[in-house]
Amino acid sequence: MTQPLLRLSDVGRDYPAGDEPVSALRDVNVDIEAGEFVAIVGTSGSGKSTLMNILGCLDRPTRGRYEVHGRNTAELTPDELAELRREHFGFIFQRYHLIGDLTAVGNVEMPAVYAGQARAARQARTRTLLTRLGLADRLGHRPTQLSGGQQQRVSIARALMNGGRVILADDPTGALDSRSGEEVMKVLDELHDEGHTIILVTHEMAVAEHAQRIIELHDGAVLRDHANPKRPATRAAAAVAPANKAAGWQALRDRFFEAFRMATLAMAAHRMRTFLTMLGIIIGIASVVVVVALGAGAQRQILAQIGALGTNTIDIYSGGFGDPRVTTVRPLRAEDAQALAAQSYVDSATPNVSAGVTLRYGNIALNAQA
Ligand code: ADP
Ligand code: MG
Repeated sequence: MTQPLLRLSDVGRDYPAGDEPVSALRDVNVDIEAGEFVAIVGTSGSGKSTLMNILGCLDRPTRGRYEVHGRNTAELTPDELAELRREHFGFIFQRYHLIGDLTAVGNVEMPAVYAGQARAARQARTRTLLTRLGLADRLGHRPTQLSGGQQQRVSIARALMNGGRVILADDPTGALDSRSGEEVMKVLDELHDEGHTIILVTHEMAVAEHAQRIIELHDGAVLRDHANPKRPATRAAAAVAPANKAAGWQALRDRFFEAFRMATLAMAAHRMRTFLTMLGIIIGIASVVVVVALGAGAQRQILAQIGALGTNTIDIYSGGFGDPRVTTVRPLRAEDAQALAAQSYVDSATPNVSAGVTLRYGNIALNAQA
């Protein structure tokens, strides 16, 4: 027997909540074959989103095993999981989750940037996908300039960008009016016909009727897993072409420029925030400069004051204190001062003579040093 595309074996997922953890999923055993169109239904809180997140490798089970193409996801590194998500799964959410600062084209392109697809191929594919979804005249629009149905179609194009062999749609019609919802379901039907595997969460029976197989969840357990008699499984999965990749350095360069473009877009979109951030940085740098300049100025002033105190002058005395040869030592003469002044390290030399004298004024006599 061949491997199913996705296999959940005895999967459970607990969420910590106070003393008793909440069991969002328990003993789930589900195999999904390539090319199937599966609807997951159940009341609110029955574990549909939890199951979807595990299927899309956005979350890991607490118990049990989840295999994609026979590979146990518990044994994959975070990078391998990210690659699996990027290359195999396309996600569609109830609230679209589009990036508000990017245009329709920018949003759809994004997964291919991370997958390292060449720029020209990426842009051509973006245009093809958006045109196919009826958005050819909305390429440069931002999400806020699009209706809910249009935003959801942009998010479908994004899910298809890297191939989207498995489309995981968590209540894609939940936020839409019935007509837009029908349009979205028509697109999903077409994708299924083309060979995409579709897994759809919904609480509307009319939406679930599009699927070939309906899995009913109740309190985290599979209540019923049955074929939809109105939509018999007939088609075999066609191969969905994987995206062609750019060379390594080119992909890296693309990713860098894309990050840069996103950053400038975000800065332009939030001018006040950008200005305040810049102001903070400017104040920070200015304070450092002021503190350093003040320090250097104070240091220079103190050195000047020390210089003025005279530490740069040296007094030279003729020796002889306690020297028995004192009478034979020649005292300093005027020529010595001239010789000293001629030295390169001497600024100037001043001969200096002092003697004890008696000062007399009237009948007052004082001994002084002159
Ligand atoms: P559904 O999508 O069917 O409405 P969910 O999968 O979102 O259900 O939730 C299933 C159960 O798990 C709910 O009881 C919910 O309260 C709980 N749950 C979901 N996510 C968390 C979480 N992050 N932390 C704690 N409990 C959660
Ligand atoms: Mg949910």
